[in-house]
Amino acid sequence: MEEKYRSSERYYGEKVIAPQEPYGFPRKEIEWFPRIDPEKCDPSKCAFFCVDYCHMKVYKRDGDKVVIDDPYNCNVPSQSCAPRCPTGAITFPSKEELKRMLRGLRKKYGYR
Ligand code: SF4
Repeated sequence: MEEKYRSSERYYGEKVIAPQEPYGFPRKEIEWFPRIDPEKCDPSKCAFFCVDYCHMKVYKRDGDKVVIDDPYNCNVPSQSCAPRCPTGAITFPSKEELKRMLRGLRKKYGYR
């Protein structure tokens, strides 16, 4: 396992609650959270780095796998965990997809 996955960026503190009205819209109406490709995920390469890295505790260890446990606590539009995954297993919606979601919410709620 590479040194960078050992400790310095791991977080063992309390779960941080992400902003609940990003861009002024209810968090649960924004489909922004990571997806894990189970074919690519290989915790033997990182010792479940994403689980410890995320202060919002979006990821959870489930036996020898990782699951998305609290998707709507992901901090929109952060995706800093993705480039840290050693196998490229983590993906997020594109910036264009996020813009589309926000356009839809502005139609629904008006500008905020
Ligand atoms: S998704 Fe990436 S960082 Fe998370 S456990 Fe799997 S390989 Fe490691």
